[in-house]
Amino acid sequence: MTDQYAVFGNPINHSKSPVIHRQFAEQTGQDLHYAKQLVEVDAFVKTAQAFFAEGGKGLNVTIPFKVEAFHFAQQLTPRAQCAGAVNTLALQADGKILGDNTDGIGMVHDMHNLGWELRGKRILVLGAGGAVRGILQPVLAEHPSQVIIANRTVSKAEELAAHFHDLGDVKAKAFEALNGEQFDIVINGTSASLSGDLPPLPNGLLSSNASCYDLMYGAEPTVFLKWAAEQGAVELADGLGMLVGQAAEAFYLWRQIRPEVVPVITALRRQLNEKKSS
Ligand code: NDP
Repeated sequence: MTDQYAVFGNPINHSKSPVIHRQFAEQTGQDLHYAKQLVEVDAFVKTAQAFFAEGGKGLNVTIPFKVEAFHFAQQLTPRAQCAGAVNTLALQADGKILGDNTDGIGMVHDMHNLGWELRGKRILVLGAGGAVRGILQPVLAEHPSQVIIANRTVSKAEELAAHFHDLGDVKAKAFEALNGEQFDIVINGTSASLSGDLPPLPNGLLSSNASCYDLMYGAEPTVFLKWAAEQGAVELADGLGMLVGQAAEAFYLWRQIRPEVVPVITALRRQLNEKKSS
C-alpha cells in the first residue's frame, strides 16, 4: 500500500504542504500520498490516533495544534523539546510516534541557501510567539554574537530569553528600547505582517550590510520587507523558503532522503506571481 501522510490544521485550505510534498516525492521517486485535513479544534488527539491506527506514516501539524502535537508525541527530538511545539510527527520502526520541530531549521537552511552567514552576527528577532520559539534553538546553534528578542508584550520575550539562556547570548528588549541599537540580521517573527502592520521600529536599526527576513510570505513584499528596503537592507527574503525548508526536513525524517528545495521554491514563487498578475 502507498504510504500515507497528511497535514492537520484549522484552517487548512490555504496549505501548500500537499503541493510541496508531491513535488518532493516526484523528484526523489518516492511512492507516497499526502493529503490536507481540516481537524476540528477539539479533535486533534482522536484524529491523529485514528490516522496512525489506520496505518498512516507521518503528519505535519499546523495552527492551532503544534502544542497538542508536542504532548501527543511519545518521543521528541532535542529541537522539538527546546521549542515546546511539534510540526512533524513520524511513526518509528518500534511503533512509537516521534515529534520534531522543523520550522527553525527550515528557516536556517533557507538562509544558508541564500548565502547568509549567521555566525558572529548580531541578530534581532521580532516577536515571541510559537514561530519564534521554533527558530531560536537553530539560530543560536549557528553561533551568532548575540540575539535580541523584541516583543510587544515584553514579558513573553523575557520568558523566551530565559528559556534559551543556556544556548547562547540571548536577551529581551521592548521595541522602544531598540533606539540606538544596530543589527546585522533582523528576523520578523511577529504576525503583524498578516494585518499589514509594522512593529514600531526606530530608524538606523540596520548595520551597513544588513539582511532582513520575514517569516510571512506572499506575492507582494510584506510591510516589514518594504520598511527594510527603505532602511537600506542589502538582502531581503520572505518565509517561502522556510516553508519549503521545514517540509524538506519533515520529508527527510519520514523517508531518509533529502529533496532539493530550490526547484520547489522557484515553482511556488512562480505560482504566487502568476496569481498576482491574473
Ligand atoms: P503567534 O500568534 O504565536 O505570535 C504572534 C506574535 O506576533 C506575538 O509575538 C505578537 O506579540 C506579535 N504581534 C502580533 N501582532 C502584532 C503587531 N501588530 N505589532 C507587533 N507585534 C505583533 O504567531 P506565530 O508565532 O505562530 O506566527 C508568527 C508569524 O510567522 C506569522 O506571520 C506566520 O504566518 C509566520 N510563520 C511562517 C512559517 C513559514 O514556514 N514561513 C512557519 C510558522 C509561522 P504579542 O506577544 O505582544 O501578542
